[in-house]
Amino acid sequence: MPTQTTRSPATTSPVAAQAVAPQRLRNFIAGEPVDGVRGFDKTNPVDGSLLAVVHEAGAEQVDRAVAAARAALEGPWGRMSVADRARLLRRVADVIDRRAEELIAAEVGDTGKPETLARDLDVARASANFRAAADTVSAAGLDSYLTEMPDGRRALNYAVRKPLGVVAVIVPWNLPLLLLTWKLAPALAAGNAVVVKPSEETPSSATLLAEILVEAGVPAGVVNVVHGFGADSAGELLTSHPGIDGVTFTGESSTGSAIMRAVAPRVRPVSFELGGKNAAVVFADADLDAAVAGLARSSYLNTGQVCLCTERIYVERAIFDDVAAGLAEQARRLRLGRPEDPATTTGPLISQAHRDKVLAHLALAQEEGATVLAGGGIPALGGELDAGSWIEPTLWTGLENSHRTMREEIFGPVTSLVPFDTEEEAIALANDTEYGLAAVTWTSDLARGHRVAQRMRVGMSWVNTWYLRDLRSPFGGVGLSGVGREGGRHSLDFYTEPTNVCVQL
Ligand code: NAD
Repeated sequence: MPTQTTRSPATTSPVAAQAVAPQRLRNFIAGEPVDGVRGFDKTNPVDGSLLAVVHEAGAEQVDRAVAAARAALEGPWGRMSVADRARLLRRVADVIDRRAEELIAAEVGDTGKPETLARDLDVARASANFRAAADTVSAAGLDSYLTEMPDGRRALNYAVRKPLGVVAVIVPWNLPLLLLTWKLAPALAAGNAVVVKPSEETPSSATLLAEILVEAGVPAGVVNVVHGFGADSAGELLTSHPGIDGVTFTGESSTGSAIMRAVAPRVRPVSFELGGKNAAVVFADADLDAAVAGLARSSYLNTGQVCLCTERIYVERAIFDDVAAGLAEQARRLRLGRPEDPATTTGPLISQAHRDKVLAHLALAQEEGATVLAGGGIPALGGELDAGSWIEPTLWTGLENSHRTMREEIFGPVTSLVPFDTEEEAIALANDTEYGLAAVTWTSDLARGHRVAQRMRVGMSWVNTWYLRDLRSPFGGVGLSGVGREGGRHSLDFYTEPTNVCVQL
């Protein structure tokens, strides 16, 4: 395999800096870049150009990565105090902030998302994730009980938290750095060593983050990165490896199921953040402008490629036409374009393969009788952009919960509007899904907001807002949308094994 090239220094436009010869991205094991068994191409979704050749890890590299993580646990990292770990995480956050332009370039290159979004959401959240994990672990207390038994014996019971050990961190392509650091930061805060497998679609920011961790002083081997695909590649090699002590995964529900099978023989703990088919419910008493703006954001942010996006919107009949007209207008106003243009609101889908999947859903919706209110196909953007994986922000009506389009996750900028008449009906429609990640309720009635939010069968229920996150609050889903919760102390609960010590007094 060819050797790794260096990155271009950041300029005022990180994306312009990225527009150079394809990079060669290697695995990162025990503090060193490591060749893979073969290379695969990563193309730019904006215009289809070749961005990078990525070294795919084989069995030998995955073995080495797991062994390096194990060795790190046995070394100084395994003995580092909580205070020192927290200090180190804050230093990582500082280096992320300092090298933000490079990270933005990496993220924008791989995903084609607007530079403004990468700056304000992805990279800002990456450093915030490290600071939040440092805060959480610094403030974490211990369970302790003074025990009095019926026969008069007395004991002090207390729990100590130990790291899980070697944690496999497997992440998707939609918010690559945000979702990676969401898991990596608390895993490190808890004292684990990790092997990261980023998505084959977004290898760049994870590779750069590995460099950043070294610069901040994270010891070699504590974080290792292996590149490749899922089944029959680095992902499966890692999740079925006997040397891992747990898996934290974000991605499709069907992949979660495959990973569960891979770890089942050795009964390892898993934390899964999976797919969704999220509902919004809009009552006639809602602030219409705020609701329409919020629905546009929850349907089209990141080209609809956020697990929390709403693909089903139920609207009380009295305001159905107003919401439909307002949201269609918002969809049409979105500006598709090059990521470095500050006026761009919406990038392409991640790949041609993903666009084919979304287009298949567009065709299916037509067959099922949908009426298109906005979008519905491939935009004509002209020039080199026509080789990218662009799609129009789309809005439908005319579908019902029985239609496949209303049941399967599409993961693109497409959403359906359906009318309802009563609160009971709205709740029933929203909960009529095998998924259960997030829901949104739009209403000006305070009691109704609480009432409906609590009855949503989901992990996260918003009222009059969407994707407003406090990093300490629990994040996760029910049903097909996941197993477990992360965020604040919930993350610590997954990334540690509490051990009870009982001392008779
Ligand atoms: P994906 O499941 O195809 O891939 C995710 C990761 O898993 C990638 O790194 C991939 O290489 C790896 N992988 C795939 N098959 C594997 C296997 N058999 N063994 C081990 N690893 C394997 O998901 P995606 O297409 O990258 O991401 C989109 C999906 O992620 C959507 O379903 C979306 O809803 C979901 N998602 C969920 C959340 C959440 O927090 N709930 C957040 C973001 C994305």
